[in-house]
Amino acid sequence: MKKISVVAAFGLLLFAALSYADEGVHWTYEGHAGAKHWGDLEKDYATCKLGKHQSPIDIETGKVKTADSDPIKLAYNGAKADVINTGHSVQVEPVDGGALTVDGVEYKLVQFHFHTPSEEKINGKHHAMVAHLVHKSADGKLAVIAVLFDLGRENGTLQPIFASLPAKAGDKHPLDGTINVSGLIPANHASFMFEGSLTTPPCSEEVHWIVMKTPMTISSRQLDAFKKLYPMNARPTQPTNGRVVQAGR
Ligand SMILES: [Zn+2]
Repeated sequence: MKKISVVAAFGLLLFAALSYADEGVHWTYEGHAGAKHWGDLEKDYATCKLGKHQSPIDIETGKVKTADSDPIKLAYNGAKADVINTGHSVQVEPVDGGALTVDGVEYKLVQFHFHTPSEEKINGKHHAMVAHLVHKSADGKLAVIAVLFDLGRENGTLQPIFASLPAKAGDKHPLDGTINVSGLIPANHASFMFEGSLTTPPCSEEVHWIVMKTPMTISSRQLDAFKKLYPMNARPTQPTNGRVVQAGR
């Protein structure tokens, strides 16, 4: 009996140590470990305060420049996925869910997750929620598509996820059926494009951002289900420091 509890205690300790290593230093959105302090929490987070191309930003539509780049190409498919409560959001990780091509570079879909309110502002205003679809190229570069959500009709693509959100940090379950993220993206691909960063520690830069201009909708019931877990998980907007936002097609 005693032996078993020692083994169990050791297992628990190991699990705690591994989760700690995986998550890095504890951070939050408000309070002592909140967004204002991320850059001071540990050395690896310094970019959060020193970076000059940080995200999110407030997009002033009057200052957006026309881009001469090719339209983005989206090629998504239905895929099995895991749904994970990361302790900072709910994240969905599809297996081979498709890819995005921008400026001739292909980025494979890795995961998507949610923030409320939207981290991005458009002319000073938040939307109710945003989904960040994170893509990675073969050489490790990141491109994120942000889809803004307003309250309205229930979102059918999100329903299987939002109907049973993993309740506690660390909880993970396979999604019932498959998910095709093309159902999350507005039919009109007009976007705002700019260079930015991850919006969570370590705030790494060189992320290509594509914020869809046309918002999608979620029902208040769907938003409430998410807010029960995360009432506020948006980093404040960051200075643009002369960055130009381009209009993507
Ligand atoms: Zn995000």
